[in-house]
Amino acid sequence: MIEDVGRLAQLIIESKKIVVFTGAGISTESGIPDFRSPGGVWSRYDPEDFTIQKFLSSQETRENIWKMSVEAGLLIEAKPNPTHYATAELHRLGKLDCVVTQNIDNLHQKAGVPEDKVFELHGNMQWVVCTGCRKRFPLPEVLQKVKEGMAVPHCPDCQSILKPDVVFFGEALPQETLTEAIRRAQSCDLFIVIGSTLVVYPAAYMPAYARKAGARLAIVNLTPTSLDHHTTVVIHGKAGEIMTRVMEKVRQVGQE
Ligand code: NAD
Ligand code: ZN
Repeated sequence: MIEDVGRLAQLIIESKKIVVFTGAGISTESGIPDFRSPGGVWSRYDPEDFTIQKFLSSQETRENIWKMSVEAGLLIEAKPNPTHYATAELHRLGKLDCVVTQNIDNLHQKAGVPEDKVFELHGNMQWVVCTGCRKRFPLPEVLQKVKEGMAVPHCPDCQSILKPDVVFFGEALPQETLTEAIRRAQSCDLFIVIGSTLVVYPAAYMPAYARKAGARLAIVNLTPTSLDHHTTVVIHGKAGEIMTRVMEKVRQVGQE
């Protein structure tokens, strides 16, 4: 493990264009549950409720989702943890090309990574979008209406259904973001996966694109992933602890 921390630090030192690819696992240390771990979201909610078809066709599903969004208020209050700060430090060191994230929690930006360097494949929970006129509203504004008793909020302008501005099952990923994320993956020199099981596609193809184009690949995750055998460095453990040690090592070598 100590050796692997040193190897990842060395890879970072040798690299100039790093893409950090993150999943729900990096935010568990900020108190946001991931989907697939025990106690994760899928053990408490029905994934069927998160299809776009169901959301648009069932009033009951919409009520459930808004109820859950109120409960998920913690998402708005959540604070970045050492993994988010490590990524922001890579930016300050001039090594970060970009972050490609499956997360919708806005924590990379809160930690100091500039917005134009964060590619969000699944949207951002801070926003709500009208399915009719596509106007966007800040989430707290809409949640306030739910708390005041409006079980299913509607667009104040065109009365259409409002939807959290995140990608539901059955919905396409934002095309421009995806295309740019693939281009970045294909032109980086180091691709670091942190906190993702790498099972949700097409996001999970990203490390394969990077590797095929010649980048080195590193994975930091609590549990094994399907790509562990194809990487230069794999470290299993808590991302926050590992990335703290990796960045200490990067700083230490930088001063020598
Ligand atoms: P996932 O739930 O499938 O997997 C998370 C992975 O992180 C697991 O392999 C787990 O072992 C690992 N993990 C958990 N805690 C960790 C820690 N402290 N350190 C290192 N690894 C840790 O999540 P996924 O692969 O990102 O895909 C699921 C989808 O869920 C994504 O599309 C994402 O949009 C969405 N999601 C987002 C959030 C968020 O924004 N924070 C939260 C839940 C789900
Ligand atoms: Zn509207």
